[in-house]
Amino acid sequence: MHIHSLTGEFVRPTAETAFLDHQLARTRSLLGFTLLFCTFFYLCFFVTDVAALGLETALAATFPARLLVAVTAGSCAWLAYRRPLSVRATWLAATLAEVVALASFMHIAMQRPHEFHWHAMSLAIMLVVIYLYIPNRLVHAIVLAACSTGVFLALVQGVAPMPFADLLTMGLLLVLVNTFGALAARRYNHVSREEFRLQADLKTAAERDHLTGCYNRRYLHDHLLGLELSRARRFGRPLTVVLCDIDHFKLINDNFGHTKGDEVIAAFAALLVRMTREGVDTVVRYGGEEFLLILPETSLDGGEHLAERLRLAFAGDSALLGDNPFGLHTSASFGVASFDFANTQVRYTLPDLISAADKLMYEAKRNGRNRVESMELK
Ligand code: GH3
Ligand code: MG
Ligand code: MG
Repeated sequence: MHIHSLTGEFVRPTAETAFLDHQLARTRSLLGFTLLFCTFFYLCFFVTDVAALGLETALAATFPARLLVAVTAGSCAWLAYRRPLSVRATWLAATLAEVVALASFMHIAMQRPHEFHWHAMSLAIMLVVIYLYIPNRLVHAIVLAACSTGVFLALVQGVAPMPFADLLTMGLLLVLVNTFGALAARRYNHVSREEFRLQADLKTAAERDHLTGCYNRRYLHDHLLGLELSRARRFGRPLTVVLCDIDHFKLINDNFGHTKGDEVIAAFAALLVRMTREGVDTVVRYGGEEFLLILPETSLDGGEHLAERLRLAFAGDSALLGDNPFGLHTSASFGVASFDFANTQVRYTLPDLISAADKLMYEAKRNGRNRVESMELK
């Protein structure tokens, strides 16, 4: 998950999408709150219109523009709070509110042409809000802020020209605000994504086994036991578990070394993952070279069939140990236990199924290894 040095976003689109989706609830509430807060202040500044122009002129010349901002930003805030907006929709709402606010601001500034120094200060504050507080893409914020800065400086020259030194100072200050705003926004993007990456790494380390990438026993106990059982019970469906263990693995370690042993374990795990259904079945590293497969919606027949295919594939994977002088080859023994949860008379749990599969796996060892033993629980 590499972070782009300029935008502060993840380079890989899938990682960026995962991050944005993860943040969406927070983004929506931040968008709603910021828009409401800013709208309130935008309206409050109507007092300064009245002080500068008198009530009647202010009501006619600037109030409609302020009201338009309030209505637009208020609607966008309502959408953000109340509707399940997508990430793109939050960007659209943010951009729309920003465009309307900036355009209205230019209109109001033109109604009070003798105060462009103050207007420059207001614009600088608006730019800080756009860069840092209204959640939007950095590139959108940069384009909006840079364009509005250019339009504002053009208005100054067109509507109320000021001495060159003043214009220069104003221009440089606005360039400074834009630069630091963009840098701070980029830094914020970076930090929040680094935090997300760290969380994802910690989650993987807590849930998965380092050597094989399969789920570990902690994940099995914390998540799978309850989840898979309640799903099978709720829908009255069959559930099958397979426990498998590599045969005579100690000999592989003793004769080829632990590094080769690790390779064999990783290859076995990869085979299990490859031959099971992605997103449906779960592969857990249950012990050293012992793996547990949880197969929802699978009858005993289906579990036996899969175990037999796995047994044949692993036993046929002779390339793993090469042409070895020890005459060793890889094989594994399988115990398959199944229960149909349509039967509501008996209340088996997932640990009951695992323990049955464990016994069957040892039976397979006793019966000569490289074989499958199976049983339907009644
Ligand atoms: P059996 O056919 O009865 O299963 O015989 P076995 O030799 O495979 O016996 P067992 O399953 O009891 O042996 C497991 C061995 O696996 C013991 C341990 O040294 C080794 N082992 C456990 N974890 C790892 C690991 O991560 N890497 C390596 N290389 N070896 C491991
Ligand atoms: Mg073994
Ligand atoms: Mg073992």
